Amino acid sequence: DRLIAADAREGEEPIDRAIRPKRLTDYIGQPRVREQLEIFIGAARGRDESLDHTLVFGPPGLGKTTLAHIIAAEMGVGLKSTSGPVLERAGDLAAMLTNLDAGDVLFIDEIHRLSPVVEEILYPAMEDFQLDIMIGEGPAARSIKLDLPPFTLVGATTRAGLLTSPLRDRFGIVQRLEFYAIAELTEIVTRSARLMRVETDIEGALEVARRSRGTPRIANRLLRRVRDYAEVRGSGRIDAEIADRALDMLHVDHHGLDHMDRRLLLAMIEKFDGGPVGVDSLAAAIGEERDTIEDVIEPFLIQQGLMMRTARGRVVTRQAWLHFGLAPDETAAD
Ligand code: ADP
Repeated sequence: DRLIAADAREGEEPIDRAIRPKRLTDYIGQPRVREQLEIFIGAARGRDESLDHTLVFGPPGLGKTTLAHIIAAEMGVGLKSTSGPVLERAGDLAAMLTNLDAGDVLFIDEIHRLSPVVEEILYPAMEDFQLDIMIGEGPAARSIKLDLPPFTLVGATTRAGLLTSPLRDRFGIVQRLEFYAIAELTEIVTRSARLMRVETDIEGALEVARRSRGTPRIANRLLRRVRDYAEVRGSGRIDAEIADRALDMLHVDHHGLDHMDRRLLLAMIEKFDGGPVGVDSLAAAIGEERDTIEDVIEPFLIQQGLMMRTARGRVVTRQAWLHFGLAPDETAAD
């Protein structure tokens, strides 16, 4: 399995909950998001209103769920959490909505995966805090309207473009999370190490940060594995050398690329001469879902300048050829 998969779905370890930042001031990086939310939350609290519905988007592991919890904590309200694929029928969402207390945050992860019938229920709920639902069938069917308490919907998705436009338009606040800079990840690793009570020097934290694919969830996961290595092969203390040896053993390269990243880039180079290649051909070539390529693998590689999306398809850059110690194709982009 993918050690550095940014996906949380395989279940959260308790330590994850312990190191998850609880307040906006503990949320490292994302300065633009933090500043805006501080203002919007402060204003909503000043008016004694609930916060506008908020959409948070970005690749897995960057802190969307964490932000939803922080919003609830800063607003001083409760949070109820669900996800797009779990809400199969209109009644599932109706049950969640009628269970909210005034002001609560309703967090819907993977909100782009809501079914159309469930989305229909969500529109009047978001707009007028009204539940508009059909009960019964055939001639006995009737529509009932219920008032809901005011609430804040926080929706999370990997790409804003996956949402239908009527849904997207109903969010008053839209925040995009970016990959983290190495300095920010170093701070995250240092903070997590402190909470996990593992001794780490700054170079050790930096080495873990550098190889975390710009993603806090990966940084924390690598930190746990490096800690294991330090305890068994070293004195328990994490420094640059221990981190480097542990991460080499885990096949995480110096760029933070894992085997999925390498497979994608190498397939583009070896099978398609560096591209351009369509994403569907690429998906077939490496046996991955198109969505996984678009949402999980490629955003980081693009951000790192290793590949590009062009009108004619995906291409690798000169830097990608060089990364593998290969001579770039003369047509390769910079
Ligand atoms: P997402 O919902 O986007 O997949 P999460 O919110 O579950 O990501 O974040 C994954 C983990 O990364 C969390 O458990 C948290 O500890 C850590 N994390 C995320 N963002 C930050 C941040 N800004 N500062 C510190 N730790 C963070």
